[in-house]
Amino acid sequence: MTPEHVKCLIIGSGPAGYTAAIYASRANMQPVLYQGAQPGGQLTITTEVDNFPGYPDGVQGPQMMQDLEAQARRFGTDIRYGMVTKVIFSEQPGLGTPHRVIVDDKHEIMADSVIISTGASAKWLGLPSEMRLNGRGVSACAVCDGFFFRGQDVAIVGAGDTAAEEASYLANLCRKVYMLVRRDEMRASKFMQKRVQTAPNIEILYNTVTEEVLGDEDVSGVRVKNAVTGEERILDVTGFFVAIGHKPNTDIFRDYLELDDNGYILTEKGSTRTNIPGVFACGDAQDNIYRQAVTAAGTGCMAALDAERYLVTLEMQGEEIVH
Ligand code: NDP
Repeated sequence: MTPEHVKCLIIGSGPAGYTAAIYASRANMQPVLYQGAQPGGQLTITTEVDNFPGYPDGVQGPQMMQDLEAQARRFGTDIRYGMVTKVIFSEQPGLGTPHRVIVDDKHEIMADSVIISTGASAKWLGLPSEMRLNGRGVSACAVCDGFFFRGQDVAIVGAGDTAAEEASYLANLCRKVYMLVRRDEMRASKFMQKRVQTAPNIEILYNTVTEEVLGDEDVSGVRVKNAVTGEERILDVTGFFVAIGHKPNTDIFRDYLELDDNGYILTEKGSTRTNIPGVFACGDAQDNIYRQAVTAAGTGCMAALDAERYLVTLEMQGEEIVH
Protein backbone atom coordinates (compact mmCIF):
# COMPACT_ATOMS: atom_id res chain seq x y z
CA MET A 1 0.00 0.00 0.00
CA THR A 2 1.36 3.43 -0.89
CA PRO A 3 1.96 5.51 2.24
CA GLU A 4 -0.20 8.55 2.80
CA HIS A 5 1.53 11.75 1.67
CA VAL A 6 0.94 15.04 3.50
CA LYS A 7 2.29 18.54 3.14
CA CYS A 8 2.66 19.24 6.82
CA LEU A 9 2.78 16.77 9.69
CA ILE A 10 2.63 18.08 13.26
CA ILE A 11 3.80 15.81 16.07
CA GLY A 12 2.40 16.70 19.50
CA SER A 13 -0.65 18.45 20.88
CA GLY A 14 0.41 21.02 23.46
CA PRO A 15 0.10 24.78 22.95
CA ALA A 16 2.97 24.68 20.43
CA GLY A 17 1.43 21.94 18.28
CA TYR A 18 -2.09 23.37 18.25
CA THR A 19 -0.85 26.88 17.51
CA ALA A 20 1.25 25.53 14.64
CA ALA A 21 -1.89 23.70 13.46
CA ILE A 22 -4.02 26.87 13.55
CA TYR A 23 -1.51 28.79 11.46
CA ALA A 24 -0.77 25.91 9.09
CA SER A 25 -4.47 25.23 8.41
CA ARG A 26 -5.16 28.88 7.74
CA ALA A 27 -2.23 28.91 5.30
CA ASN A 28 -3.84 25.98 3.44
CA MET A 29 -1.06 23.58 4.36
CA GLN A 30 -3.67 20.91 5.24
CA PRO A 31 -1.82 19.80 8.37
CA VAL A 32 -2.24 16.41 9.97
CA LEU A 33 -1.57 16.45 13.72
CA TYR A 34 -0.81 13.40 15.85
CA GLN A 35 -1.68 14.00 19.48
CA GLY A 36 0.77 11.62 21.14
CA ALA A 37 0.47 9.75 24.41
CA GLN A 38 -0.93 12.67 26.38
CA PRO A 39 -3.37 14.63 24.17
CA GLY A 40 -3.16 18.28 25.24
CA GLY A 41 0.26 17.86 26.82
CA GLN A 42 1.49 19.03 30.21
CA LEU A 43 -1.31 21.57 30.69
CA THR A 44 -3.84 18.79 30.99
CA ILE A 45 -2.33 17.90 34.37
CA THR A 46 -2.38 21.44 35.76
CA THR A 47 -5.35 23.13 37.32
CA GLU A 48 -5.86 26.87 36.98
CA VAL A 49 -3.85 28.74 34.33
CA ASP A 50 -3.77 32.43 35.18
CA ASN A 51 -0.88 33.65 33.09
CA PHE A 52 -2.01 32.90 29.54
CA PRO A 53 -3.03 36.20 27.91
CA GLY A 54 -6.66 36.48 26.92
CA TYR A 55 -8.22 34.75 29.91
CA PRO A 56 -8.91 37.57 32.39
CA ASP A 57 -10.52 35.19 34.89
CA GLY A 58 -8.04 32.37 34.35
CA VAL A 59 -8.83 29.02 32.78
CA GLN A 60 -8.43 25.38 33.75
CA GLY A 61 -5.47 23.79 31.91
CA PRO A 62 -7.56 20.97 30.34
CA GLN A 63 -10.19 23.49 29.20
CA MET A 64 -7.57 25.66 27.56
CA MET A 65 -6.26 22.69 25.63
CA GLN A 66 -9.78 21.76 24.50
CA ASP A 67 -10.21 25.35 23.31
CA LEU A 68 -6.96 25.23 21.36
CA GLU A 69 -7.90 21.89 19.83
CA ALA A 70 -11.33 23.21 18.81
CA GLN A 71 -9.72 26.26 17.24
CA ALA A 72 -7.33 24.08 15.23
CA ARG A 73 -10.24 21.86 14.09
CA ARG A 74 -12.27 24.89 13.07
CA PHE A 75 -9.73 25.69 10.39
CA GLY A 76 -9.58 22.11 9.19
CA THR A 77 -6.62 20.50 10.95
CA ASP A 78 -6.84 16.73 10.70
CA ILE A 79 -6.30 15.80 14.37
CA ARG A 80 -5.65 12.15 15.05
CA TYR A 81 -4.99 9.92 18.04
CA GLY A 82 -1.69 8.18 17.65
CA MET A 83 1.90 8.16 18.73
CA VAL A 84 4.77 8.74 16.37
CA THR A 85 7.14 5.89 17.16
CA LYS A 86 9.84 6.32 14.54
CA VAL A 87 11.06 8.84 12.01
CA ILE A 88 13.25 8.42 8.96
CA PHE A 89 14.17 11.93 7.98
CA SER A 90 15.33 12.43 4.43
CA GLU A 91 18.67 14.05 3.78
CA GLN A 92 17.40 15.40 0.45
CA PRO A 93 13.76 16.14 1.25
CA GLY A 94 13.11 18.31 -1.79
CA LEU A 95 14.27 15.71 -4.28
CA GLY A 96 11.30 13.38 -4.34
CA THR A 97 12.28 11.73 -1.05
CA PRO A 98 10.04 13.22 1.64
CA HIS A 99 10.44 12.59 5.33
CA ARG A 100 8.96 9.33 6.58
CA VAL A 101 7.13 9.08 9.86
CA ILE A 102 5.83 5.87 11.44
CA VAL A 103 2.75 6.08 13.66
CA ASP A 104 1.99 3.42 16.31
CA ASP A 105 4.74 1.21 14.84
CA LYS A 106 2.68 0.41 11.75
CA HIS A 107 1.22 3.31 9.81
CA GLU A 108 3.66 5.13 7.52
CA ILE A 109 3.26 8.72 6.40
CA MET A 110 5.37 10.71 3.95
CA ALA A 111 5.61 14.37 4.86
CA ASP A 112 7.04 17.30 2.94
CA SER A 113 7.44 19.21 6.19
CA VAL A 114 7.42 18.07 9.81
CA ILE A 115 6.76 20.25 12.85
CA ILE A 116 7.97 18.72 16.10
CA SER A 117 6.09 19.86 19.20
CA THR A 118 6.52 16.85 21.44
CA GLY A 119 7.18 18.90 24.58
CA ALA A 120 9.03 17.87 27.69
CA SER A 121 8.07 16.00 30.80
CA ALA A 122 8.89 17.16 34.32
CA LYS A 123 10.94 14.70 36.29
CA TRP A 124 9.46 13.53 39.59
CA LEU A 125 11.00 12.01 42.68
CA GLY A 126 8.85 8.92 42.30
CA LEU A 127 7.35 8.89 45.79
CA PRO A 128 3.79 7.50 46.06
CA SER A 129 2.80 10.46 48.27
CA GLU A 130 4.10 12.90 45.65
CA MET A 131 1.88 11.31 43.00
CA ARG A 132 -1.15 11.11 45.31
CA LEU A 133 -1.00 14.83 46.15
CA ASN A 134 -0.09 15.99 42.65
CA GLY A 135 -2.19 19.06 41.86
CA ARG A 136 -3.22 19.29 45.54
CA GLY A 137 -0.15 21.11 46.79
CA VAL A 138 2.45 19.19 44.80
CA SER A 139 3.56 20.96 41.64
CA ALA A 140 6.42 20.91 39.15
CA CYS A 141 5.90 24.52 38.07
CA ALA A 142 6.38 27.41 40.49
CA VAL A 143 5.50 30.00 37.88
CA CYS A 144 2.17 28.24 37.20
CA ASP A 145 1.16 27.45 40.77
CA GLY A 146 3.19 29.64 43.15
CA PHE A 147 0.44 32.25 43.24
CA PHE A 148 -1.84 29.84 45.14
CA PHE A 149 0.66 29.75 48.01
CA ARG A 150 0.93 33.48 48.66
CA GLY A 151 1.94 34.19 52.25
CA GLN A 152 2.38 30.48 53.02
CA ASP A 153 5.39 28.26 53.71
CA VAL A 154 6.54 25.95 50.91
CA ALA A 155 9.38 23.59 50.06
CA ILE A 156 11.14 23.10 46.77
CA VAL A 157 13.38 20.17 45.93
CA GLY A 158 16.27 20.53 43.49
CA ALA A 159 19.58 22.30 43.29
CA GLY A 160 20.01 23.31 39.65
CA ASP A 161 19.34 26.63 37.95
CA THR A 162 15.64 25.86 37.62
CA ALA A 163 15.25 25.12 41.33
CA ALA A 164 17.19 28.25 42.25
CA GLU A 165 15.16 30.37 39.86
CA GLU A 166 11.86 28.93 41.07
CA ALA A 167 12.89 29.26 44.73
CA SER A 168 13.56 32.96 44.10
CA TYR A 169 10.22 33.31 42.36
CA LEU A 170 8.45 31.63 45.29
CA ALA A 171 10.36 33.76 47.81
CA ASN A 172 8.66 36.83 46.34
CA LEU A 173 5.24 35.32 47.02
CA CYS A 174 5.60 33.06 50.01
CA ARG A 175 6.45 33.65 53.65
CA LYS A 176 9.18 31.03 53.73
CA VAL A 177 10.78 28.71 51.19
CA TYR A 178 12.75 25.61 52.19
CA MET A 179 15.12 24.52 49.46
CA LEU A 180 15.92 20.82 49.71
CA VAL A 181 19.35 19.98 48.28
CA ARG A 182 20.34 16.32 48.27
CA ARG A 183 24.12 16.85 48.29
CA ASP A 184 26.35 19.22 50.27
CA GLU A 185 26.49 21.63 47.36
CA MET A 186 24.29 23.00 44.61
CA ARG A 187 24.64 22.47 40.90
CA ALA A 188 23.19 25.89 40.02
CA SER A 189 25.42 28.66 38.64
CA LYS A 190 27.32 30.70 41.23
CA PHE A 191 25.13 33.70 40.50
CA MET A 192 21.91 31.79 41.14
CA GLN A 193 23.36 30.17 44.25
CA LYS A 194 24.20 33.57 45.67
CA ARG A 195 20.72 34.76 44.91
CA VAL A 196 19.06 32.02 46.95
CA GLN A 197 21.69 32.09 49.68
CA THR A 198 21.13 35.79 50.29
CA ALA A 199 17.33 35.78 50.12
CA PRO A 200 16.09 36.41 53.68
CA ASN A 201 13.18 33.96 53.48
CA ILE A 202 14.89 31.03 51.72
CA GLU A 203 16.40 28.38 53.98
CA ILE A 204 18.63 25.91 52.18
CA LEU A 205 18.79 22.45 53.72
CA TYR A 206 21.81 20.58 52.35
CA ASN A 207 22.22 16.79 52.41
CA THR A 208 18.47 16.58 52.64
CA VAL A 209 16.29 13.99 50.95
CA THR A 210 12.52 13.90 50.84
CA GLU A 211 11.02 10.84 52.49
CA GLU A 212 7.31 11.60 52.19
CA VAL A 213 4.90 14.36 51.33
CA LEU A 214 2.30 14.53 54.08
CA GLY A 215 -1.41 15.31 53.87
CA ASP A 216 -4.77 13.66 53.29
CA GLU A 217 -6.62 15.98 50.89
CA ASP A 218 -3.92 18.64 50.46
CA VAL A 219 -0.26 18.94 51.36
CA SER A 220 0.21 19.62 55.07
CA GLY A 221 3.93 18.97 55.44
CA VAL A 222 6.94 17.08 54.23
CA ARG A 223 9.11 14.57 56.05
CA VAL A 224 12.78 14.94 55.20
CA LYS A 225 15.92 13.12 56.27
CA ASN A 226 19.48 14.31 56.64
CA ALA A 227 21.51 11.97 54.42
CA VAL A 228 24.59 12.29 56.64
CA THR A 229 23.17 12.06 60.17
CA GLY A 230 20.01 10.11 59.35
CA GLU A 231 18.01 12.59 61.41
CA GLU A 232 14.41 13.10 60.28
CA ARG A 233 12.26 16.19 60.64
CA ILE A 234 8.91 17.45 59.44
CA LEU A 235 8.62 20.77 57.67
CA ASP A 236 5.25 22.48 58.03
CA VAL A 237 4.52 23.48 54.46
CA THR A 238 1.40 23.66 52.33
CA GLY A 239 3.16 23.54 48.97
CA PHE A 240 5.76 21.10 47.66
CA PHE A 241 7.52 22.01 44.43
CA VAL A 242 9.67 19.62 42.44
CA ALA A 243 12.35 21.20 40.24
CA ILE A 244 14.77 18.38 39.48
CA GLY A 245 14.83 18.89 35.74
CA HIS A 246 12.78 18.17 32.66
CA LYS A 247 13.22 15.55 30.01
CA PRO A 248 12.44 16.68 26.49
CA ASN A 249 10.48 14.09 24.53
CA THR A 250 13.00 13.85 21.72
CA ASP A 251 14.44 10.34 21.90
CA ILE A 252 13.00 9.26 18.55
CA PHE A 253 14.75 12.15 16.76
CA ARG A 254 18.19 11.48 18.24
CA ASP A 255 19.60 9.75 15.13
CA TYR A 256 18.77 12.70 12.88
CA LEU A 257 18.58 15.98 14.76
CA GLU A 258 21.23 17.92 16.61
CA LEU A 259 20.34 17.98 20.30
CA ASP A 260 22.01 19.73 23.21
CA ASP A 261 23.50 17.82 26.14
CA ASN A 262 20.11 17.65 27.85
CA GLY A 263 18.32 16.35 24.75
CA TYR A 264 16.65 19.59 23.63
CA ILE A 265 16.46 20.03 19.85
CA LEU A 266 18.82 22.71 18.59
CA THR A 267 17.26 25.25 16.25
CA GLU A 268 18.83 28.01 14.21
CA LYS A 269 18.83 31.24 16.16
CA GLY A 270 15.69 33.28 15.56
CA SER A 271 13.91 30.45 13.77
CA THR A 272 12.52 26.97 14.35
CA ARG A 273 14.69 25.34 11.67
CA THR A 274 16.57 22.23 12.72
CA ASN A 275 19.65 20.84 10.98
CA ILE A 276 17.38 18.85 8.61
CA PRO A 277 15.61 20.85 5.87
CA GLY A 278 11.85 20.70 6.24
CA VAL A 279 11.94 19.69 9.91
CA PHE A 280 11.02 22.37 12.42
CA ALA A 281 10.93 22.25 16.22
CA CYS A 282 8.90 24.36 18.62
CA GLY A 283 7.71 24.45 22.22
CA ASP A 284 9.39 22.75 25.14
CA ALA A 285 11.10 20.16 22.94
CA GLN A 286 13.53 22.93 21.97
CA ASP A 287 13.22 25.38 24.88
CA ASN A 288 14.89 24.65 28.18
CA ILE A 289 14.76 28.22 29.42
CA TYR A 290 11.26 29.73 29.26
CA ARG A 291 9.01 26.64 29.08
CA GLN A 292 5.75 28.58 29.30
CA ALA A 293 2.50 27.85 27.46
CA VAL A 294 2.60 31.26 25.85
CA THR A 295 6.19 30.93 24.64
CA ALA A 296 5.40 27.44 23.32
CA ALA A 297 2.43 28.89 21.41
CA GLY A 298 4.67 31.64 20.05
CA THR A 299 7.24 29.21 18.71
CA GLY A 300 4.41 27.04 17.32
CA CYS A 301 3.35 30.02 15.23
CA MET A 302 6.96 30.51 14.11
CA ALA A 303 7.24 26.85 13.10
CA ALA A 304 4.13 27.04 10.90
CA LEU A 305 5.40 30.20 9.22
CA ASP A 306 8.86 28.67 8.71
CA ALA A 307 7.28 25.50 7.28
CA GLU A 308 5.05 27.52 4.97
CA ARG A 309 8.04 29.43 3.58
CA TYR A 310 9.90 26.17 3.15
CA LEU A 311 7.02 24.61 1.18
CA VAL A 312 6.73 27.68 -1.03
CA THR A 313 10.44 27.45 -1.80
CA LEU A 314 10.05 23.77 -2.69
CA GLU A 315 7.15 24.55 -4.98
CA MET A 316 9.11 27.31 -6.66
CA GLN A 317 11.89 24.81 -7.24
CA GLY A 318 9.31 22.78 -9.14
CA GLU A 319 9.31 19.86 -6.78
CA GLU A 320 6.29 17.65 -6.49
CA ILE A 321 4.15 18.72 -3.55
CA VAL A 322 0.91 17.00 -2.67
CA HIS A 323 -2.18 19.23 -2.73
P1 NDP B 1 19.59 20.22 36.24
O1 NDP B 1 19.70 18.87 35.65
O2 NDP B 1 20.67 21.20 35.97
O3 NDP B 1 19.49 20.09 37.82
C1 NDP B 1 18.65 19.16 38.42
C2 NDP B 1 18.86 19.27 39.91
O4 NDP B 1 17.93 18.41 40.53
C3 NDP B 1 20.26 18.86 40.35
O5 NDP B 1 20.72 19.74 41.32
C4 NDP B 1 20.04 17.46 40.93
O6 NDP B 1 20.86 17.18 42.04
C5 NDP B 1 18.62 17.57 41.45
N1 NDP B 1 18.00 16.27 41.48
C6 NDP B 1 17.85 15.37 40.47
N2 NDP B 1 17.20 14.29 40.89
C7 NDP B 1 16.94 14.49 42.20
C8 NDP B 1 16.29 13.73 43.20
N3 NDP B 1 15.78 12.52 42.92
N4 NDP B 1 16.21 14.24 44.44
C9 NDP B 1 16.72 15.45 44.72
N5 NDP B 1 17.33 16.24 43.82
C10 NDP B 1 17.45 15.75 42.58
O7 NDP B 1 18.13 20.74 35.79
P2 NDP B 1 17.58 22.22 35.68
O8 NDP B 1 16.16 22.08 35.26
O9 NDP B 1 17.85 22.98 36.90
O10 NDP B 1 18.39 22.86 34.50
C11 NDP B 1 18.43 22.24 33.20
C12 NDP B 1 19.33 23.06 32.28
O11 NDP B 1 18.71 24.31 32.00
C13 NDP B 1 20.67 23.38 32.93
O12 NDP B 1 21.65 23.38 31.93
C14 NDP B 1 20.48 24.78 33.45
O13 NDP B 1 21.70 25.50 33.58
C15 NDP B 1 19.57 25.38 32.39
N6 NDP B 1 18.77 26.47 32.94
C16 NDP B 1 19.19 27.73 32.71
C17 NDP B 1 18.50 28.79 33.23
C18 NDP B 1 18.99 30.16 32.95
O14 NDP B 1 20.03 30.28 32.33
N7 NDP B 1 18.29 31.17 33.36
C19 NDP B 1 17.30 28.63 34.02
C20 NDP B 1 16.93 27.25 34.24
C21 NDP B 1 17.67 26.22 33.70
P3 NDP B 1 22.42 16.87 41.86
O15 NDP B 1 23.06 18.19 41.63
O16 NDP B 1 22.76 16.26 43.17
O17 NDP B 1 22.55 15.93 40.71
